[in-house]
Amino acid sequence: MKKIMTTTGGNPISDNQNSITAGERGPVLLQDYQLIQKLAHQNRERIPERVVHAKGSGAFGVLEINEDISKYTKAKVLQKGEKTKLLLRISTVAGEKGAADAERDVRGFALKFYTKEGNWDLVGNNTPVFFVRDAIKFPDFIHTQKRDPQSNLRSNTAMWDFWSLSPESLHQVTILMSDRGLPKSLRHINGYGSHTYSLINAKGERFWVKFHFKTLQGIETITNQEAEAIVGKDRESNQRDLFENIEKGNFPKWSFEIQIMTEEEAKICSFNPFDLTKVWPHKEYPMIKVGTMTLNENPKNYFQQVEQAAFSPSNIVPGISFSPDKMLQARIFSYPDAQRYRVGTHYEMLPVNRPTVEVNTYNLDGSMNFEIKEPTKAYYEPNSFDGAVEDSSFAEPDLEVGNIAQRYDHRVGNDDFSQPRALFLLMNDNQKNQLFNNIKDAMNGVPQDIINRQVELFEKVHPDYANGVRKALGL
Ligand code: NDP
Repeated sequence: MKKIMTTTGGNPISDNQNSITAGERGPVLLQDYQLIQKLAHQNRERIPERVVHAKGSGAFGVLEINEDISKYTKAKVLQKGEKTKLLLRISTVAGEKGAADAERDVRGFALKFYTKEGNWDLVGNNTPVFFVRDAIKFPDFIHTQKRDPQSNLRSNTAMWDFWSLSPESLHQVTILMSDRGLPKSLRHINGYGSHTYSLINAKGERFWVKFHFKTLQGIETITNQEAEAIVGKDRESNQRDLFENIEKGNFPKWSFEIQIMTEEEAKICSFNPFDLTKVWPHKEYPMIKVGTMTLNENPKNYFQQVEQAAFSPSNIVPGISFSPDKMLQARIFSYPDAQRYRVGTHYEMLPVNRPTVEVNTYNLDGSMNFEIKEPTKAYYEPNSFDGAVEDSSFAEPDLEVGNIAQRYDHRVGNDDFSQPRALFLLMNDNQKNQLFNNIKDAMNGVPQDIINRQVELFEKVHPDYANGVRKALGL
């Protein structure tokens, strides 16, 4: 027997094809609740799209730990043999929700691990570095990626104006303009935690850590010309590829690896290891294999499980923690704040965001708390009524920090050129030519003085870099 359709109030519906009208040709009656409810609901079917990373694809999977790294961390999720369910959402940064997938852009690589100690979120990118190192510059940077307030057009001029005035962006700009700036599919990219985080072991010792997810499908990229042809036929090429491969059982996998730096090594490191525009060179800080990540399940409902998914680097578990990285510090605030605005006060109660462990919080009121609590006098803390209490065994070891507060100039004594140079010198001739031509394409319409200022920065990275760009531009 077929199910009977109902209103959202559960009342049976007799006719979902015809509105109630006064006479056969007459106007509709206000009492037609089913009509009014459908139209009213439609007006509310979208939540604000993410200001950045609006267009994304997501899938569930599993993280499996194959190596013993207990000397670095007590986190249960990172112990050998552990298997943890996860959600991965991969996104472009600048494009709106309806933007094409095959665009040159950084890819967000946002992970939520549903661990036995609460959610652990690792909200990274497919690049190990970022355009700025101080969050006070982040809203300005994003303005350059979004639309001109008058013309409503994307602006190459705004991007290169900002980048050429912000030399710390050179490293990320070089990656973005390289072959890796336009991935063939979401299965063919690496993911990086990007920030420096910390691991804490059972003895209370802290280690600084970088997280890496290396694609086992291999890095594969496409050219601007190939992307144009793809977008002309299919704006959802990355979403389609990921969804269809998982449906077919062709599950994408990544090798999960870490780099470790001791607190003592960090003090004598030649660069600031908490600077998001820098990588940790592999030779000095070798990769340590930890496990594998597999995506094996498509969401059942995109809106509920991907659009409403709310990631935040503030979600950490005992044994994994933050670092003094200024960008990470800012994201610990701004991500949950964005979710409260975008999804709602109790966004973490939605099934996709909900931890699999018991949640014992005194944050109860606020819109859409849909859990009925047993009556209790313990609705504040401290209390004398058996309410949940803190546990000092989860306290972190002391962290040494500087003691003079000031707006320190992050450019003083900071080398913005050596690491982009190391990357440039890694590239073969074909990759260098792609870099030069991609920069030429992206500089279309940019005033000459801004181009000249940027080429001077490329010159400081390597004369061949500047000359290659000049030649591509016909200068
Ligand atoms: P290594 O030679 O040990 O490592 C080079 C790394 O560069 C490899 O991990 C490789 O990734 C990656 N790579 C190669 N081509 C590109 C590209 N076009 N865009 C982005 N990454 C690329 O040297 P170092 O560790 O000393 O690093 C040298 C430079 O490599 C850095 O300045 C940085 O720009 C880049 N890099 C470094 C990473 C790190 O964590 N040390 C991570 C990613 C990039 P893969 O092995 O996956 O092919």
